[in-house]
Amino acid sequence: MKSTFVKELQDVLGSGQVRDDEEARRAATVDPNSLPDAVVFPQDGEQVARVVLLAAKEGIPVIPWGAGRHAFRGLLPLRGGIVINLTGLQRVLEFDQDNQTAYVETGLSLAQLKEIFGGGRLFLPLDPVEGEDCTLGGCIASHASGPRKLGYGTIKDYLLGLEVVLPTGEIVRTGGKTVKNVQDYDNTRFLAGSWGALGIITKAMLKLKPLPEKEVTVVLGFSTLGEACEAAYTLRKEWGPVALELLDSRTLEALKNIGSPVAGEGKERLVVAFAGFTEAVDWQVEQVAARFGRKARINVYANSEAQAIWEARRKAFAAFSGDKGGLLGQVSLPFTSTGKFITAVDEFISSKEAKAGIVAHFGNGHVHIFIKHPPLAYSELRDFLTGIEELAVKEGGLFLLDNVWDLKAIREKVENRGPALLPLLKRIKEALDPKGILAPNSKAIAYALSPQG
Ligand SMILES: Cc1cc2nc3c(=O)[nH]c(=O)nc-3n(C[C@H](O)[C@H](O)[C@H](O)COP(=O)(O)OP(=O)(O)OC[C@H]3O[C@@H](n4cnc5c(N)ncnc54)[C@H](O)[C@@H]3O)c2cc1C
Repeated sequence: MKSTFVKELQDVLGSGQVRDDEEARRAATVDPNSLPDAVVFPQDGEQVARVVLLAAKEGIPVIPWGAGRHAFRGLLPLRGGIVINLTGLQRVLEFDQDNQTAYVETGLSLAQLKEIFGGGRLFLPLDPVEGEDCTLGGCIASHASGPRKLGYGTIKDYLLGLEVVLPTGEIVRTGGKTVKNVQDYDNTRFLAGSWGALGIITKAMLKLKPLPEKEVTVVLGFSTLGEACEAAYTLRKEWGPVALELLDSRTLEALKNIGSPVAGEGKERLVVAFAGFTEAVDWQVEQVAARFGRKARINVYANSEAQAIWEARRKAFAAFSGDKGGLLGQVSLPFTSTGKFITAVDEFISSKEAKAGIVAHFGNGHVHIFIKHPPLAYSELRDFLTGIEELAVKEGGLFLLDNVWDLKAIREKVENRGPALLPLLKRIKEALDPKGILAPNSKAIAYALSPQG
């Protein structure tokens, strides 16, 4: 990047909002060996647009950055360019309690939004595994969700509209404040989940929900995974929990080893949340105790005790990855096949003597397999992952690779869905971002654009 470019950035933003010192550059990378040239700190969408316009003129890469809590999962190491830190976008433009909507800037964290909306007894039901430091923009861009998506859906269910800076520096506004607001393509949902590669999301119009009167967490402990899975089917079918998670014994052990044990008893555990009116929640808990009291060890938690359980749940991946790194395989299944897959993959892990654990958003048929300290080369893992994929396909499931940086491996998974998909992704990216400047290191698109081989 030309040295005069930093000066140009300072001219459009002010010198305090542009940093090219090593400390700032190191804080904004997914790979310490590969740093951006500069980090900028805009304060609103107009400033974001000015930076993108300048970068587009020079053909310089721009990488959106929220709290950086999970950028490494979505971004590859970059070669220079500008990281655009969006945490300065902090305004609440409107909080309309009667219409249960809010128009906010996307650098606000989920914790900040919780506090603001809580004042009106409303909330945005989003609980990404990475926690409440995440920015709203990061969650929209990566379509993050968490255990409560079973009861409440995902961020896309709460988006009424967006303001987005396009890779050309233009600003577009999609949707509006009303529920029915699409007259053309559904641009809001198209741009959400585009991983920062099609636009930078600067504002969002959100639909909010009333806070439930009561929420409790029930931990059910079983001797075998099979029993836990059977109970999970009944729980979802009969009593509609808002979250229904399964943690296997290996994961519970790993969490204990890092000092974050999951409260409760029993070898294999279901962690279940019920929320709603007090009478309804109390009735649900009574029903669960009556049905499973003999088979399972049951403990009920609320408030800070319940919060500690969900905090521990969030650390499951870290418990496996530690300092040396881990790998995440994700399998999505029809709900009724989830138990069969989990018991099969459990046997498979045991047969391979692999250091891996299973955690599932069971209620959504979404299973995570955490693999401890895998070799860096994907090829060395291929047989193990193929084994998991075969078990998933057998149960009608889809296998996804997460924090793997091997583009060829990711491309294969996409190609399996049909030959037209990669060219489509490429055409969309090129149409919106003709110079290829926006998040060119986003995995969502890098595998479509990078040379074959
Ligand atoms: C590939 C991927 C899949 C994920 N899947 C899940 C999941 O299924 N469940 C779950 O709970 N969590 C998931 N996460 C984690 C989720 O990203 C985080 O919970 C949340 O996005 C982190 O917020 P953040 O502010 O730290 O974002 P960051 O980590 O800073 O950014 C995340 C991604 O979003 C982009 N980005 C950030 N802000 C903006 C913006 N305003 N406009 C455009 N792009 C932006 C970044 O370039 C980056 O690619 C996933 C993350 C990634 C990258």
